[in-house]
Amino acid sequence: MAAIILDGKKLAARIESSIQEKVSKLQTIVGRAPGLGVILVGDNPASHVYVANKEKFAARCGFKTFDARLSKDASQSEVAAAIQSFNVNKNVDGILLQLPLPAHLNSNALLDLIDPKKDADGLHPVNQGLLMRGEGVLRSCTPLGSMRLIDLALSGKYSGLDNLNYFDLPYVDLSGKNAVVVGRSILVGKPLSLMLLERNATVTIAHSKTPNLEAIASKADILVAAIGKVEILNSSHIKTGAIVVDVGINRTADGKLKGDVNFAEAAGKAGYITPVPGGVGPMTIAMLIENTLRSYQSTNNI
Ligand code: NDP
Repeated sequence: MAAIILDGKKLAARIESSIQEKVSKLQTIVGRAPGLGVILVGDNPASHVYVANKEKFAARCGFKTFDARLSKDASQSEVAAAIQSFNVNKNVDGILLQLPLPAHLNSNALLDLIDPKKDADGLHPVNQGLLMRGEGVLRSCTPLGSMRLIDLALSGKYSGLDNLNYFDLPYVDLSGKNAVVVGRSILVGKPLSLMLLERNATVTIAHSKTPNLEAIASKADILVAAIGKVEILNSSHIKTGAIVVDVGINRTADGKLKGDVNFAEAAGKAGYITPVPGGVGPMTIAMLIENTLRSYQSTNNI
């Protein structure tokens, strides 16, 4: 069988236009646009590209962005001061501290300073703890974007994707589904496992110490790869008809981007599969913007 491609770029475009429409209505009530505060430290070229893409997405949705650009030598207290100034700025609803930070900075200590209500990336321990309790609204972006792609596959909305109002995309109950997440990082694997569990999937978390990954992965109705190794999963890891979400972004020696899953092999066996690039990546950006919108709505009680 040929898998249906879960097109994250297309879904992100629908999110953009749905949010844009909502923002144009809401800002007449609130009297201002949602605001995203972006802190970028240093000159990591990939981070500059990511930040530019996030700011462009925000601007297209009608958001105002606030920039704090710091040099690669910025001290812990200078970055902390940038976070504090966004925490108290009433026009800033969501704060993005672009990672990775230069090695001399303590990322976790800085993430802890972000007001949890403005934590657009969902990485503050309060929001991670709320996820553990099945509460809270700000969820980390890559796992959340992966979940929404699974929703697209299972909701029956795929065929109408071109005209989808994103806010009509349901949060699908996953009772009876076996989900296997390969990877247990705090950024992706762990929160994604909790999100799948919250939706009633039966969840297995695999990692580098898991023996016989093939036997485990090939029983998954939903298989998520968040490993960071080029095409380490192939058709023998995939159950016929499975939903395969490939979070991995790996740059090969010839400069190409590849996922953790061998796409050509997997696409012959899976029911749905996300491409790399163009799958989870664009959804990660879209979820940052949706989180900021959520904060804006909750601050303004709308
Ligand atoms: P980490 O390196 O933090 O975690 C990788 C996980 O994979 C670990 O839990 C590790 O196990 C596990 N692992 C490593 N090797 C194997 C193996 N051979 N078999 C099974 N499990 C293995 O990476 P991240 O979670 O931060 O990122 C994972 C991938 O997702 C990367 O390619 C990253 O670039 C990409 N990514 C993509 C995003 C997007 O927007 N699309 C956003 C964030 C990340 P152990 O814990 O035992 O070491």
